[in-house]
Amino acid sequence: MQKKIKLVRLSPIGEMKTKSPIEPQSVWSEEELLDGKRVSCLTVILSTPGCSWWKQSGGCNMCGYNQKASDRSITGEDILAQFDKAWKSYDNHSIIKVYTSGSFTDVNEIPIAIRKEILKRVKDSGARMLFESRPEHITQESMQECVGICPDLQVALGLESANDRILEKSIHKGFTYDDYERAAKAVLAAGATVRTYLLLKPPFLTEEEGINDALDSISKAAKYSRVITVNPVNVQRRTTVEKMWKAWAYRPPWLWSVAEVLRRADKGDSLLLSSLVGAGSDRGPHNCGSCDADVVAAIDGFNLTQDRKRLDKCDCGCKDKWKEALSAEKFAIAPGDHDRFFSRGQPAR
Ligand SMILES: [Zn+2]
Repeated sequence: MQKKIKLVRLSPIGEMKTKSPIEPQSVWSEEELLDGKRVSCLTVILSTPGCSWWKQSGGCNMCGYNQKASDRSITGEDILAQFDKAWKSYDNHSIIKVYTSGSFTDVNEIPIAIRKEILKRVKDSGARMLFESRPEHITQESMQECVGICPDLQVALGLESANDRILEKSIHKGFTYDDYERAAKAVLAAGATVRTYLLLKPPFLTEEEGINDALDSISKAAKYSRVITVNPVNVQRRTTVEKMWKAWAYRPPWLWSVAEVLRRADKGDSLLLSSLVGAGSDRGPHNCGSCDADVVAAIDGFNLTQDRKRLDKCDCGCKDKWKEALSAEKFAIAPGDHDRFFSRGQPAR
């Protein structure tokens, strides 16, 4: 059995517990690049009545956020109370990121009056506001209204992949690339900027297909995005991806694949980042266990400098194993966790 290092970064998934309706789900500070400078950023995750797409359809195959960060009884006042509590952690941060388990501009999740109040508070602090929404909750009017209150606004769109087949069959995303494009144009027309989230290695793709899909998606999203964040899939509880993972039919991406995507991406003028959740663990992006911390540090270094040379510094014997996986998977009947299968690891718990 390979020895696994402990989680190199605390997973927001792991932190999620059922909380009082007036407690934010999670609040933390981190560093990010803003206009070429390292700045501090406050991230707030609010509990809401839940993502409308999840309620309607069961949600996306990899997303477990609604299991904990939603509660149908939560009211607008509760959400504002959560934000007030989170705001106690504000300490001259330059960026404030506000997430829900769905969409900040979905009126079934956050009433318009509460949305306006949160935007106003962030505007008064002088920080840049970032929130995430699915395209169907973005209109010219809603964007103009948001920018009117908080002009320094970045809207995150979880595109995941620019390939409609992958969006439909692998992710169950419920929208198409054209929907993303329309929303991105509405955000830009209102004077805000776009941050695009992409997934690395959605289910049913081989490692190599995952890399190629991320590269293709980055080049398409670069046209609209000030920031592109590549999120390697992590195995969240009670999701389709978890079922596959337990059946050895899914392996989260190698950290080598993350580095490969960052190294080769045609990102245009966009800032390219990768957000690693659960890195180094079986459920998150991982390598062999002994080089994971070094590769994560290299990716973090790239995130804060955009210097691709940082990614070239790491090496490990498992890189050959990763390369073998890239070529061997082409001949497999289905993608799976061949790494775990051939090392005779224990079935996942
Ligand atoms: Zn290694």
